[in-house]
Amino acid sequence: MDANDSPPVTALKGVGPRLAARLEHLGIHTVDDLLFHLPLRYQDRTRVVPIGTLRPGDEAVIEGEVLLTEIKFGKRRMLLSRIGDGSGTLTLRFFHFSATMQQSLARGSRVRCYGEARPGTVGLEMVHPEFRRVDETAPTAVEEHLTPIYPTTEGLQQPSLRNLTSQALQWLHDGRLPLIDHLPPELLRGLGFPSLQEAVTYLHRPPPDAPLSLLAEVRHPAQRRLAFEELLAHTLSLRRLRAQSQRHKAPPLHGDGVLRERFLAALPFPLTGAQQRVGAEIARDLQQPHPMQRLVQGDVGSGKTVVAALAALQAVEAGYQAAVMAPTELLAEQHFHNFARWLAPLGIEVAWLAGKLKTKARRDILQGLADGSTRIAVGTHALFQEGVEFHDLGLVIIDEQHRFGVHQRLALREKGKSGGRYPHQLIMTATPIPRTLAMTAYADLDCSIIDELPPGRTPVETVVIPDSRRDAVVARVHSACRAGRQAYWVCTLIEESETLAAQAAQDTAALLAAALPDLRIGLVHGRLRQDEKERVMADFKDGRIDLLVATTVIEVGVDVPNASLMIIENAERLGLAQLHQLRGRVGRGSTESHCVLMYHGPLSLQGRERLAVMRETADGFEIARKDLELRGPGEVLGTRQTGLLQLRIADLQRDQSLLAEASRSADLLLQRWPQQAALLIRRWVGAATRYGEV
Ligand code: ADP
Ligand code: MG
Repeated sequence: MDANDSPPVTALKGVGPRLAARLEHLGIHTVDDLLFHLPLRYQDRTRVVPIGTLRPGDEAVIEGEVLLTEIKFGKRRMLLSRIGDGSGTLTLRFFHFSATMQQSLARGSRVRCYGEARPGTVGLEMVHPEFRRVDETAPTAVEEHLTPIYPTTEGLQQPSLRNLTSQALQWLHDGRLPLIDHLPPELLRGLGFPSLQEAVTYLHRPPPDAPLSLLAEVRHPAQRRLAFEELLAHTLSLRRLRAQSQRHKAPPLHGDGVLRERFLAALPFPLTGAQQRVGAEIARDLQQPHPMQRLVQGDVGSGKTVVAALAALQAVEAGYQAAVMAPTELLAEQHFHNFARWLAPLGIEVAWLAGKLKTKARRDILQGLADGSTRIAVGTHALFQEGVEFHDLGLVIIDEQHRFGVHQRLALREKGKSGGRYPHQLIMTATPIPRTLAMTAYADLDCSIIDELPPGRTPVETVVIPDSRRDAVVARVHSACRAGRQAYWVCTLIEESETLAAQAAQDTAALLAAALPDLRIGLVHGRLRQDEKERVMADFKDGRIDLLVATTVIEVGVDVPNASLMIIENAERLGLAQLHQLRGRVGRGSTESHCVLMYHGPLSLQGRERLAVMRETADGFEIARKDLELRGPGEVLGTRQTGLLQLRIADLQRDQSLLAEASRSADLLLQRWPQQAALLIRRWVGAATRYGEV
């Protein structure tokens, strides 16, 4: 057993198979795990509080004499007991009680209670407090520490968790438990954090004078130290993943540049400086004999697709296949159309692979991919399902990757592997990720940023309007469409149900059609058949529809340059990143564009703030930063569901201020203390993240 191995919880007294199974529910396997299972909050049972000083909402220990106990019969039978301690009186109220309880609370007996003081019918009261009889002549001790309240699971009570953590802490102090501080003292000193032992002991058993509010906000140095260590460990594990992928083999894609030149020459515009720069970064990576892992961030409309096409052409020039994957069929289709339109003149056929293909068509496409006659495939995740074989896949391009999540990304890499070689990976996202967050959450990737929009775009003018002024908005849509412009009307729902969303969009479309009989109104939602969706989008793109009513399915990527008005209903329900994506559907041509954020009042303070951000800025990075502030990284990264960085203690939002330091320390550790780095990863990330095996 090496020094980092912690004994199993079953080594503690009283832990049999049943208790061990319950602890397992909480992710607690070892004694170390138990020590990293931190309290949610604390109770102060370290002193007896005079009743007269209690304020409503206080949770406290009181002690006094029972002045009166009676059963009241009303709508509900209850036991009421009046307690006095000389400083004041208070009522105990029980809805469930036994004869024994009634006896212990007999008039004249002395009791100690713990509970929350609430305003009652006469003065303060405690409902169902904990209580026990005490003896005045032999005073009962109070607790020496604040009482921890742990996150728990069914069948596992607080006293049991307290007992176990007490044992573990005892072991720690006896030196029986080698909870080794893997942060080198030199590093720790600079950061001003307590040692690991101090931090853990403090958090499980804080002294009576501990700053409760600081602890409640999880900003105490002891908490920050552990959060920091965890963030550091995750950063290290992603860095290590990156280093490992540097050791993997990939086909070096040396293209002769001919296809790329012809492609660029045929484009109706020159590349922006940012597109050129990022394109060159990718081209260089692709020539390496190691798999590229590059994330391209570029705001909505910054022209990522062209950059992706260049990369795909480089693979084709070098004799390899490229696969382009998007999260939705709609988006995949749009890529397919773009690629097909761009590459057909170069004599390159592009294949389309999605879930709903007919058997025969599917078989033909699979054949082409397997025998190598098809060089480029575009599709949804169907590209990587069972039965899809590539002949010589050199590059995988993933668009809007925040929908995929790190596990899927790594799984894809595994699936693309053949003959011991991995394909290169290019990941594109329109959700700008603040730099510090990217350094931690995407520490396994190299990042490129397209930080320039193609010229000639006019910023989208954004207004925020209550839905009580819906008529005015409808009138505005009318006049815009009459003037030859096109508009989107996006319906949102709180529920993530496609059926309900489709229904809402249908209803809205019907209402708008009644109000605006002279407009051509289209409807698109996730419930439509593929070909119907396609037809509606094509009609809109070609100007045969004036107003497109849609669900948020059009959120990402859809490109119709003539559309210049975007109405978003119930905008307060959406995250800023999503609003930014939606708004990015307009302002793509040269006409001045408008976005109307309609909200259903009254707005919360936060809601008002968020919509104000949308009105005031068009910068995706600024919006992402605010989104992080106002909603949390789960939304920004889209990983709440996919579980990137399964953090036990740290919180990417709350602990943002630690991210930069965690990243810096990760570099330092890898350079100077690789051994410790490995131990930290093992402690915090451990077996939970066996990437690539998912
Ligand atoms: P996104 O980065 O949001 O995926 P797209 O690749 O869809 O953006 O590009 C948005 C629009 O800008 C498309 O119509 C595309 O043809 C156009 N575009 C891309 N690059 C340029 C450029 N350098 N100059 C002008 N228009 C461009
Ligand atoms: Mg795009």
